[in-house]
Amino acid sequence: MRALPLFLTCLSVALLQAGEPPYLYPQTDAFKQDLAAARLKGLSLTDYHIHIRGGMTLEKAGLRQEHSGIRSAVLENFGREWPLCDTPTLKAFIDLHSQPLPNGQRLPVGIQVNDRDWFKQIDQAQFQRLDYVLADTMIMGVTGEGKPRRLWLPEVTIADPEAWMQEYLAHNLRILDEPISILANPTYLPPCIAHLYDQLWTEARMRQIIAKAVAKGVALEIQAGSDFPKPDFLRLAKGMGAKFSFGTNNFDDKTKDLARWFQAIALLDLQPADLAAPKLATLPPAPTLDLPSAGPHN
Ligand SMILES: [Zn+2]
Repeated sequence: MRALPLFLTCLSVALLQAGEPPYLYPQTDAFKQDLAAARLKGLSLTDYHIHIRGGMTLEKAGLRQEHSGIRSAVLENFGREWPLCDTPTLKAFIDLHSQPLPNGQRLPVGIQVNDRDWFKQIDQAQFQRLDYVLADTMIMGVTGEGKPRRLWLPEVTIADPEAWMQEYLAHNLRILDEPISILANPTYLPPCIAHLYDQLWTEARMRQIIAKAVAKGVALEIQAGSDFPKPDFLRLAKGMGAKFSFGTNNFDDKTKDLARWFQAIALLDLQPADLAAPKLATLPPAPTLDLPSAGPHN
């Protein structure tokens, strides 16, 4: 007696799965309710962290936006060891992804920056064509081979977490001084010391990050699937007047569970004024050559 309804349920799930490509959000009741609750608060959600990689494309990002009502913005990594490693690759990326979608809309186009001198290396004209720049703090120092140290890799070990944290805080503050629009994955910690989060991210340290982000107009990202930042940081940031942006940080074209976005919206009771509209910052002027002065020096 129970076999038939079970069969029908399986069939409808299979049909639903067959009909819904992986780059579109499954229209579950929970997803629809969360989105409706956000809309009721007047929140217009944008995913500013959609990488064009692993099969993700501008077209799929456009269809995802159309299907879900969550706006899509696309970006890719810019830096010496990354897909956009020079002006021609950067230009080609912007050219391709600035194209209007079939409905005539254009998605915001950004870059994620990975080298700490990126703003001195980037071509000014290409920079001006971008809508935003996103940075995280997840590369710091150098490996034994002299390569930038990617803190998320399992082989990363930290002998003295407290000493490292002081260096890492300074690294975070330097990044916030770069002409960026969004700080992604704020308060990230490498896996080997993630369990020390409460000890290492003291309120005083969190306040320094938030104050600088507020002063520089840098949005703090709430990223789907990331453990960072923790609720204490989010609450403190909201209280200090920070603006937030949302991101998924994909590696393929599949959607991610957005529960973390909706949890943060509820936790902070986010209002439209709390959401950032990330803008392109201003590049520092190119250094001018010091010409010797005409007169004698005294
Ligand atoms: Zn990313």
